[in-house]
Amino acid sequence: MPDSSFCPPPRVLRVAIPTPLRRVFDYRPGTDAPPRGWQPGVRVQVPFGRRRVVGVVVECASHSDLSLDQLKTVEGWLDAEPLPEDWLWLCRFTARYYQHSLGDTLHQAMPVLLRQGRPLAGRVRKHWRALALPQPGDTRLQRAPRQAELLAMLAQHPQGLYSPAILAQGFSHTQLQALVDKGLVVCTEEPAAAAPPATEQLLAEPALPLNREQAQALGAIHARLDAFHPCLLHGVTGSGKTEIYLQLIEAIVARGRQALLLVPEIGLTPQTLERFRRRFRVPVVALHSGLNDSERLDAWEAAASGRAAIIVGTRSAIFTPLAQPGVIIVDEEHDGSFKQQEGLRYHARDLAVARAKHHAIPLLLGSATPSLESLYHAARGNYRHLHLTRRATRHAPARLELLDLRGRPRQGGLIPPAIEAIRETLTAGHQVLVFINRRGFAPTLACHACGWLADCDHCDARMTLHRQPPMLACHHCDKRRAVPAACPNCAGADLRPLGSGTERTEETLAALFPNIPVYRIDRDSTRRRDALEQTLAQVKRGEPCLLVGTQMLAKGHHLPHVALVVVVNADAGLYASDFRALEHSSQLLVQVAGRAGRAAHPGRVLVQTLHPDDPHLRLLAAHGYDPLTEQLLAERRAAALPPFRFLALLRLESPQEEAAMTLGREATAMLRQWLATHALEVSCLGPVPAPMERRQNRYHLQVMLSSARRSQLHAGCAQLTAWLENCPAARRVRWSLDIDPQTLS
Ligand code: ADP
Ligand code: ZN
Ligand code: ZN
Repeated sequence: MPDSSFCPPPRVLRVAIPTPLRRVFDYRPGTDAPPRGWQPGVRVQVPFGRRRVVGVVVECASHSDLSLDQLKTVEGWLDAEPLPEDWLWLCRFTARYYQHSLGDTLHQAMPVLLRQGRPLAGRVRKHWRALALPQPGDTRLQRAPRQAELLAMLAQHPQGLYSPAILAQGFSHTQLQALVDKGLVVCTEEPAAAAPPATEQLLAEPALPLNREQAQALGAIHARLDAFHPCLLHGVTGSGKTEIYLQLIEAIVARGRQALLLVPEIGLTPQTLERFRRRFRVPVVALHSGLNDSERLDAWEAAASGRAAIIVGTRSAIFTPLAQPGVIIVDEEHDGSFKQQEGLRYHARDLAVARAKHHAIPLLLGSATPSLESLYHAARGNYRHLHLTRRATRHAPARLELLDLRGRPRQGGLIPPAIEAIRETLTAGHQVLVFINRRGFAPTLACHACGWLADCDHCDARMTLHRQPPMLACHHCDKRRAVPAACPNCAGADLRPLGSGTERTEETLAALFPNIPVYRIDRDSTRRRDALEQTLAQVKRGEPCLLVGTQMLAKGHHLPHVALVVVVNADAGLYASDFRALEHSSQLLVQVAGRAGRAAHPGRVLVQTLHPDDPHLRLLAAHGYDPLTEQLLAERRAAALPPFRFLALLRLESPQEEAAMTLGREATAMLRQWLATHALEVSCLGPVPAPMERRQNRYHLQVMLSSARRSQLHAGCAQLTAWLENCPAARRVRWSLDIDPQTLS
């Protein structure tokens, strides 16, 4: 029976289409309606221009601004049941907040197979079990040796096997089906993903007894599980935050609810997952880049149907639908990877806040180095501020010791006292981590005769010298070229690497400590999927070794035998133009330092710098991250920057600088006038060249909007995007709007 109580048969369907245009499109429904009537959230196949696309009905309406016979007709519906309501709500919120096309938002937020029009409901997986052992002389198998082999293989697995395991052995579906037809194998189907949570036997291993601080923090969260209850879990590295997540999730799942845990890109290592899977008997669904499209859809469906109790994923997992939302946890909430930097520029942590509020559930933001935004909310009482000041294990996090780089000879970036400390640590039988924020051999190549530097032809940047394999590479546009044998400018032969990257430090350390293994961990050394895991497994065995790595090493990893951390250069963020640079670089320093002395041995952290008198660095070294953030917040307030003001950044780029500049000027002139007529207090700065103006042979400009009132900023942005969408000149310039930008580059 068609159920038409949701909405009367509509005359018009408003459909969100995957295009950058910030509008929806009207269609006529056609004669065939989904069994339960038309509803928002039903995917449809529609003609769009010369293409056919998959869109989503977002409204059923009674009239259109166009006359009905001008409207095209929907070609067919793809969902008998609309896509999940909570997901649709989140997409609408996201599109509105980030001023992005709703159609594109929906498209980005759904699994690839749904974008392609594949069905969501009714995904099953097949399970095959042998009913009999193959008997010699069985006539049913006489002419089918492969079927006989398949039956023998299945017979070795009395509980049966799922299709992928069988197909991986080189058998086919046809062979399986033939055995079923012959009555030798039985096939059962079950829902594609995890089984429903069995709440009785939730834990596979007992929870750790909490220390006093942990128990207090967890108690505070437990006090309100049925309301929006945002908490900032501010705990030093190794203080047992993850243990709190585990026990909170246990409580949520025991109530028949689901938990969504977001982790940074780097955090979703097998190591982290392993810890969750060991603890819980219910399946932990992990959304990571290693899944194929079909596994991704299965996970989505399992979450949407409520069968998956625990969902762990990186940034985009915030768009996972939940049938019974119980809690959202964001681990390392300050981490930059939660912000998507192109296309739909959303911040998963901020969406987590909105989503938890919508569902009226607790929200837990955890970090050793919370963002200034979250600290500000905590200070204002918007978030409950929970502290863990002590490590769960024996040793307190180490202080930072500053080492003055000025006038000292360097080897692979390291000065003598650092090398001495490394030697002592290795001699004592411990491990050392050397952190250097630059991959490759050296930041660039220079001619000592004429001063030539290896510039990128396409960017305002230097090319990095690599040795493995040898090349010059631009880390901004990925352009590569061969290392010249002589100076391209003066033909002199005295070309020298300038500065140090991971490869050079690795080489130096290998020469200084020939009997100690040196492991380099950066994007180049870990391109193979399991390379990082393998190296870390090696390191975990505990023999003395040297680890040289970029920020890939800084976060999340538990390296119990590291007793010394050396930071080759702490200066990158100190005098950068970006207003968040100092916040981000101090977070990174503290996270790197947190790798030292995690278990057996007290740690030491040496930080090399050209600016040992820098007040921020000194404050961080002497008193730690928290007092520094107070200082940084005071500076932000004085400078009228976030979190005291709201920002949006319009970026414009074009191969012709003039085209981008003209459009930027016209857009800002229009906007300033509009703001004045509407008496809105939004400041509009620019257009000005981006910090790196030329990138990939395109000129980058930006306009910064800021306001003390978010609603006013949003009104200004809406006016700006509407104007740009309708401006013919804007079609020749690439532009984008970034609400709450994380960087001004
Ligand atoms: P964080 O997430 O804050 O870095 P973890 O939860 O990973 O901290 O804890 C760090 C280490 O301390 C882990 O090895 C963990 O097993 C251990 N640990 C955490 N809580 C406790 C506890 N209450 N008792 C004993 N060990 C604990
Ligand atoms: Zn030269
Ligand atoms: Zn380049």
